[in-house]
Amino acid sequence: MLTVSILDGYVDEPTCLGVPPYISPYPRYIAGAVWNHDHTARVVYRTIDQLRAEQSILEVFARSDLVVVIAGMAVPGRYLSGFPASPNELLAFFAGLKKPVKVLCGPSARYGFGLAGGKPVRDPRFVAAVFDLIAQGDGELIVAELLRNKLDVDRVDPALCRLNASMIRDSAVTGARIVEQHPFFPQYLITEIETYRGCPRSITGGCSFCSEPSKGPPDFRPESDILTEIAALYSTGIRHFRLGNQPCIFSYRAKGAGEVEFPEPNPDALERLFHGIRAIAPELKTLHIDNANPGVLARYPRECRRIAKSIIQYHTPGDVAALGVESVDPIVIARNNLKADANEVLSAVKLLNEIGSARGANGLPELLPGLNFVFGLDGESKDTFRQDYQFLQRIVDEGLLLRRINLRQVIPIPGTKQFELGDKLVKRHKHEFRRLKHYVRTEIDRPMLKRVVPEGTILTDVYLEIHEGKVTFGRQLGSYPLLVGIPGVLSLHQFLDVKVIGYGYRSITAVPYPLAVNTASLETLTALPGVGAKRATRIAARRPFRNAGELVQALDDPELGQKLLEYITVK
Ligand code: SF4
Repeated sequence: MLTVSILDGYVDEPTCLGVPPYISPYPRYIAGAVWNHDHTARVVYRTIDQLRAEQSILEVFARSDLVVVIAGMAVPGRYLSGFPASPNELLAFFAGLKKPVKVLCGPSARYGFGLAGGKPVRDPRFVAAVFDLIAQGDGELIVAELLRNKLDVDRVDPALCRLNASMIRDSAVTGARIVEQHPFFPQYLITEIETYRGCPRSITGGCSFCSEPSKGPPDFRPESDILTEIAALYSTGIRHFRLGNQPCIFSYRAKGAGEVEFPEPNPDALERLFHGIRAIAPELKTLHIDNANPGVLARYPRECRRIAKSIIQYHTPGDVAALGVESVDPIVIARNNLKADANEVLSAVKLLNEIGSARGANGLPELLPGLNFVFGLDGESKDTFRQDYQFLQRIVDEGLLLRRINLRQVIPIPGTKQFELGDKLVKRHKHEFRRLKHYVRTEIDRPMLKRVVPEGTILTDVYLEIHEGKVTFGRQLGSYPLLVGIPGVLSLHQFLDVKVIGYGYRSITAVPYPLAVNTASLETLTALPGVGAKRATRIAARRPFRNAGELVQALDDPELGQKLLEYITVK
């Protein structure tokens, strides 16, 4: 029996996320290609974190006919539930693996291994000794070709790319069931869905740092293909979806794509798509989006308002449209062919606030903008940092909501204009970058968090992921979830409702809601507003309480006792 192993070393690209709790389309399409070739094939899917924890997985790989590794960070990120594969560990894991044919694919094969923001990528040749094929093209096509050619790597073009979106129609559906092997399946796994690849702005060269224009103008997947894939994923038990694999969701099936830089958005197509998803996946728990081009929202406010309304009608709340701002400095914008100026970004932020700021059932606003800034671009000066900060301050002053501000240093990707400049300006402005980050975290992020989730807000279905000391950290599922710190060591891998009690710079503090006062830990009791260590000890000593009155009596301050009843239950 043909055995193919897939090692998911995770991907993070401008238009695709595949770090847990996300699974990218790469392993799904590749598994589909294998099963389309031989429906009896055994396909084993493991993540790099599983391999680190259990090296006996290497024995499974050693008995396979083909091992496909997916890896590569093209944008810098920090992750809570997964740690991407590094080139060094791939060398270490695969050095002794003799029998199987080994293929590397994903952004690491195409552009190299991104190591951290501001640092040059590591060339894929670094790991060439342990791979038989570095697939710069599309992994699913190359794997299909390999299988057709009886695993003879010399007969396969490593640059093979899909000609159009119809080439993934079948593999996307056939491969959907591979998600069942993900360690987070089904409850905590978000499937990243591709709606199209390629950027409309590729006709003008695109932004200087971005790899997406190399994929050419947009090649849209038909709604029916996307819906069939989602139906297949849903039938396995998947309930979390993100339409994140495209440069701009507002430009899906835009009119004039490939001919003009900012094609006219197509609200009808998006209405059909979102309505269709709800019809085939009625019990879904998450339906979110990701990227949006602020230049499109600014140029086509009428169409984008309609699209935002459709999204809100069918999605789940807490959604984020991540706007690629990169810089508001006119010199940087001009030199790097960026997509929008400060006024255009501001109008996009206002439009999303107007349509999306109402609070949804999970405690978060329906749909908010997030802003991405990139540093180290051509034309950047010390004044760039001042201009970016002032722009953010203006958003705060105007009372607008932002879900997230992402400040990162560019990774110079081979094949982009930025690659020629390298990390020169990243190095030159590292102090300015650090200082801006500090100011934004302390003076913008925290007030913004207070606005987005005021004290006392109840957030539903927070999934508990890790412990750090005596604090449990969790997040709601979705695009750019808020990090929630809960004082006390709670059982992990459960969903919990929480009530907000405080703020960090990029996280919030909350307690389980309603808090079972008779069993709560001392740490959690201490964190309750107005309680502190002394009163928490007193509450703990007087337990169990049979009713709320007993709790109020146990405290030295009846007013505080009444306030606490908003948080706790004696049941
Ligand atoms: S608009 Fe710029 S950043 Fe966005 S996908 Fe196109 S080239 Fe990349």
